[in-house]
Amino acid sequence: MALKALDIFKLLPKTNCKECGCPTCLAFAMKLAQKQASLDDCPTASDDAKAQLEGAAAPPIQLVTIGAGPKKVQVGNETVMFRHDETFHHPPGIGTIIPDNLDDAALTERVAAAGKLQFHRVGTDIGITVVGVENVSGDSATFAATVERVKTLGLPMVLMAQGADQVAAALGVCADERPLIHAATADTCDAFAALAAEKTCPLVVSADTLEGLAELTEKAKAAGVEELMMTLTGASTPGELDALTSARQLATRKGMRSLGYPCLVTSTDEDVYRNVGKASTFVAKYAGVVLTSLYQPEHILPLLTVSQNIYTDPRKPIQVEPKLYEVGAVTPESPLLFTTNFSLTYYTVEGEVEASRVPAYIGVIDTEGTSVLTAFAADKLTSGEVAEFLNSETVTSKVSHKKVIIPGYVSVMSGAIKEDSGWEVLVGPREASGISKYLKTVWPAA
Ligand code: SF4
Repeated sequence: MALKALDIFKLLPKTNCKECGCPTCLAFAMKLAQKQASLDDCPTASDDAKAQLEGAAAPPIQLVTIGAGPKKVQVGNETVMFRHDETFHHPPGIGTIIPDNLDDAALTERVAAAGKLQFHRVGTDIGITVVGVENVSGDSATFAATVERVKTLGLPMVLMAQGADQVAAALGVCADERPLIHAATADTCDAFAALAAEKTCPLVVSADTLEGLAELTEKAKAAGVEELMMTLTGASTPGELDALTSARQLATRKGMRSLGYPCLVTSTDEDVYRNVGKASTFVAKYAGVVLTSLYQPEHILPLLTVSQNIYTDPRKPIQVEPKLYEVGAVTPESPLLFTTNFSLTYYTVEGEVEASRVPAYIGVIDTEGTSVLTAFAADKLTSGEVAEFLNSETVTSKVSHKKVIIPGYVSVMSGAIKEDSGWEVLVGPREASGISKYLKTVWPAA
């Protein structure tokens, strides 16, 4: 369990020598507690203190790396139950499962479909980050051949097989890619762990209870497997959610090391909605990897959207750079709107302007990443700042007119903006969804 700053302070030399770069031992202890420093920075820490602090400094959920090279995925390393307690550190790997019993044409199609599961949303590239290859055929050579074909995607792989022979065959063609081996049971743990230890690959253990998982993680660890994940078998979706929640609680709050590993969840319901529902649930709580049998873009995008929305740092508003944006082939006569630098606000406005097909400028004011109404209420969006922006070289060098469209929610600012800037102020729609119609109908007549 993570130590608090005062507990850490008690173990430090308390000489305030400053060699760690901090003015006092207490300041260093606070940085250590927030994981912003390493104990190595204190040259006089005793061996005993190091032993105690190193154990406590390890994250309650292990960091597991799947794959090698630039596309490798890191999962786990989580420290809290709830995002608002601190933040969630690593979004789950999300991937589709490709079975090894497809004929050649179908396999080509599935690999191609998996390669297309990449999207651009609110200014960010998102997509599947892992791919599962499932040994449905039971045949080692077929499994290895399928793995070779899937390998062309360049994504970290999860080798899903029940027998060690099949896993060994697949590792023969991809061990260098450091795939995740899925999944060792009580019966196969020795053989799977031996393969994982030999090839230094991460391993998933599976059991139908948390006690069973704890036993297997201890066993695999003793066999030399360095990175482990867990998967629960035979449970309903609510039961699995309960178990993952308990595992997270026991690891983060009670310091139970044998359950301190990220979990892998598979979602294979033939009903698309239940499948998406289950996968989304575990993206939110508390999977480290979610694999689904689905592979259509419209089924995968919701999972990625959930992940993108949850795995943000609540301590840092998502912001875009405050500047003048050009949407479409603008001319000096194009309309000018303004909004704030809260990322979701900006991309909503940009999407609506784009949809209108009316080339336009969007001026983005720095409001520390807050939305229009919040910024206005907090005095972060003032007529003075808007006026300064409108009359800046950035705007006047590009826009020949002096008409600005302001968000309808802050229509109350129109008089002050006009007075401070000398610009004509047009009050736009309250909701971004009205922008398209506004640009096509109101602006031309303005
Ligand atoms: S180097 Fe160690 S002893 Fe010196 S101030 Fe930092 S924590 Fe204290």
